[in-house]
Amino acid sequence: MRALVVEDDPRIAEDLARALASSGFRIEQVAEGEAAWFRGGTEAYDLIVLDLGLPGLDGLSVLKRWRGEGVTSPVLILTARGSWRERVEGIDAGADDYLPKPFRMEELLARARALVRRTGGQATSQQMVGKLSVDLNRMAVAVQGVPVGVTPLEFRLISYLALHRDRVVPPTELLDHLYGDEDSRDTNALEAVIARVRRKLGPGVVGTRRGFGYFLDGAI
Ligand code: CA
Repeated sequence: MRALVVEDDPRIAEDLARALASSGFRIEQVAEGEAAWFRGGTEAYDLIVLDLGLPGLDGLSVLKRWRGEGVTSPVLILTARGSWRERVEGIDAGADDYLPKPFRMEELLARARALVRRTGGQATSQQMVGKLSVDLNRMAVAVQGVPVGVTPLEFRLISYLALHRDRVVPPTELLDHLYGDEDSRDTNALEAVIARVRRKLGPGVVGTRRGFGYFLDGAI
């Protein structure tokens, strides 16, 4: 099971990571809102622990963006003590559970287990767009039910388009996602990957809006 811990207090983050790891989770950690939004929007997690008080983009905005983009990972929010407003806003924004700070680690683990039980212990990882299906846990792609072999880079491209199916994704954003800050990033490289993916998936899956970017056919 994969868990994402979003917490900017290093001491609490460390405690959370250790406790969840000892409960069988594979842990990833981020300490800042924008990074959390990006990570949660591009990977499937069985559990996300999200502190609402974050530097940069705050936790509530991160949660709203995730839910707006169709991210279904179960989210447990950490709220300020006594702030009923935060709890209400968090639940309205799509949190599955909450825990006010300071909390007992035993209680957090109990709530984490309950959340995972409720969601079947598996992140909702299957994305269906038109005739394409993308399984974010198994890193598998199929067209009309027929599996298609793709490289990790190609998978990152396809899954990103699937997770952002409701809009045209600009080339610069795809480059950021595929290559990060590496020097190798350029639009020719991106076009080459797109061409390879199109050959593998066949016609009518990856669409282009000239001058704007790429999208999955049947999604928008
Ligand atoms: Ca905080």
